[in-house]
Amino acid sequence: MPDSTIRRQALSLLKQFYGFNSFRAGQLEVIETVSGGRDALVIMPTGGGKSLCYQLPALLAGEGVAIVVSPLISLMQDQTQALQANGIPAAAVHSGNDEGTNAELIRAAENGRLKILYMSPERLVLMLDRWKRLKISLFAVDEAHCISQWGHDFRPDYIALARLKAERPDVPVIALTATADRLTRDDIVARLGLSNPYVHIGSFDRPNISLASFANPGMRERVRFVASLARKYPGDSGIAYSLSRAGAESFHKHLLAAGVRSVCYHAGMDAAARKRSLDAFLSGKAQVCSATVAFGMGIDKSNIRWVVHNNMPGNIESYYQEVGRAGRDGLPAEAILFHSYADVLTLTRFAEESGRRDINQEKLKRMEEYAHARVCRRRILLSYFGEETHRDCGNCDVCLNPPVRFDGTVLAQKALSAAMRTGQGAGISMLVAVLRGSMRSDLRALGFDKIKTFGVGVDVSAAEWADYISQFIQLGLMEIAYDDASHLKVTPAGMRVLRGVATVSLARYEPRQAPEKRKKKKEAVPHVSADPVQQLFAQLKAVRTEVARKAGVPPYIVFSDATLMDMAVRRPATLDDFLEVNGVGEKKAVRYGDSFIKAIRRFEGLSASEGAGVSLKQTLVLFNAGVTLPEIAEIKNVKLGTIHNHVATLIEKGMITSYGTFISRREYEEIVQALKAGGDSVYDRLREKYTSGIIAIARAIARRNGVLQ
Ligand code: ADP
Ligand code: ZN
Repeated sequence: MPDSTIRRQALSLLKQFYGFNSFRAGQLEVIETVSGGRDALVIMPTGGGKSLCYQLPALLAGEGVAIVVSPLISLMQDQTQALQANGIPAAAVHSGNDEGTNAELIRAAENGRLKILYMSPERLVLMLDRWKRLKISLFAVDEAHCISQWGHDFRPDYIALARLKAERPDVPVIALTATADRLTRDDIVARLGLSNPYVHIGSFDRPNISLASFANPGMRERVRFVASLARKYPGDSGIAYSLSRAGAESFHKHLLAAGVRSVCYHAGMDAAARKRSLDAFLSGKAQVCSATVAFGMGIDKSNIRWVVHNNMPGNIESYYQEVGRAGRDGLPAEAILFHSYADVLTLTRFAEESGRRDINQEKLKRMEEYAHARVCRRRILLSYFGEETHRDCGNCDVCLNPPVRFDGTVLAQKALSAAMRTGQGAGISMLVAVLRGSMRSDLRALGFDKIKTFGVGVDVSAAEWADYISQFIQLGLMEIAYDDASHLKVTPAGMRVLRGVATVSLARYEPRQAPEKRKKKKEAVPHVSADPVQQLFAQLKAVRTEVARKAGVPPYIVFSDATLMDMAVRRPATLDDFLEVNGVGEKKAVRYGDSFIKAIRRFEGLSASEGAGVSLKQTLVLFNAGVTLPEIAEIKNVKLGTIHNHVATLIEKGMITSYGTFISRREYEEIVQALKAGGDSVYDRLREKYTSGIIAIARAIARRNGVLQ
């Protein structure tokens, strides 16, 4: 197929099945390449849109099934559910099914009844001998970094995938991952044996995710912050990550006590408890998941509005991957990092014990720089991933609140001097206490209330001091001796400031504000928005919850928030208009359209239904989507005869022009002959053999062809 044909077909399938109007950057090129039979390596951030890169080639292939390798059952189930909801025949074979079901699904794939089949690597490798002649449109290896020992999530099972290319050199392999580093990338290509692959490296920018970082918040402040996020995004959810299981448990309890619908998730819980938490989170019953990083890889929930890190992660790769779970639908989302020097202490220990001490310490250092940055945080992230940036992002705390600089030399001298006079034997909180003249008993026990600088900084608040000291550390005037009870030591650069030969420019301290307060607008009743789009959006969400409950699927499988938002803006009052909404494919339009259109019409003050034409149009849309007539009847919950009558009408109007699948040539001719011959009881005679629906169809075709009046 020439490229332009593939492009056209790809675009039309995108609209028909997914309801999207355009591809994201890079997707179409990958799709063309794989459809053309070439291997590909696709690197895109989490939420970047990797799935379409293999799903569309699977649809474009005339015959054969696409086999997708995935490391987690939850990931497979989620994808399968989403594909089926869009009317794409897909399934997953895994140990969570009984083996009878699995055997049935494999047969379905072999008989050409499936377009996409998910399975684990070890299962696929076992199938290769049996499938020597099966037509396979492509192999997709999802989370491909799992094949590399350099990656952060090595899975030995993936190694066997080297056999794919060896046994089936005719089948293109597409490897997909969000891990960008060069070592892992090269390893994937080598281990899978990809031949001259097309490599797409997408931008790692996720501009819809706002970034912010806060040093040393206390537990009360953290809980208040998260509770405030929960209120700010009432219908949506968020994740709070902690470094340890105990941390996740404890934060979860604090959230519950603050009235937040939270669940807990970590690898120390038994499988049943984990599943309960996951289900509650996915269904929206729980709004917040307080978790360790064990939670997340399988989570493709599009309406996660925020991710809070309770502790600093060990490196920027992990951080960005975890943050990427927010805002996958492209709507505004927030990433908030809480960190403290205690985190750094723990992580330094991890790094030392890791067996890759130097690399890990270096990575931790970069993470610390991010946490403390006073320049655009997104630029730091993107430059870390090797992307050039030319502008500040305008959507991080630094850009939104650019630091006001002032001469902080005197402040620095006070702190440095106090540090010296404690014999460099004070940590951050002790040093602040000394500067503020606190009467803490541990301070007095050490005799720090006797030194000359005791209380010289009483005019500056403790929070302010903590912030400035953190800046002194960033500026290299002081350092934390992790090997000496985290005491602050004055560096040679600090000595120069102390002696008055160097000056210090500081960013002015900005008190932290909870998320609700950060937006300037103050509304009397915060959650009933006056904005009609927001109002309708909220109503559509309620409809989605109801529809999802009835269908027994999570709400985001019905429609993403981005789709509901587009709906709230366009306000489609007819099925035709409904199909224009970004994210509404044909299958979902017919399945769910009624409920949403009704709500929109009610909102607009229109009569409840669009009138008689709707049902016909729905039938047409489904028919064009390749749904069989009995299936249409089932979906619409009407008799097959009703659908036959619709089809007859549509044929007469010239809107359906291929009839082969529901009436044979012989049947058509027999019925038309009889109708032409006429006679009193022609109809009764035909009814002995045919339903009235089929007769109507035959008559419609004949009329359309001018054979009958
Ligand atoms: P990844 O696998 O890279 O993490 P997904 O394939 O799950 O990302 O895609 C993330 C989200 O983006 C999904 O909700 C998906 O429906 C949406 N998406 C992907 N491609 C497009 C597109 N071309 N137009 C609109 N939305 C898209
Ligand atoms: Zn910025």
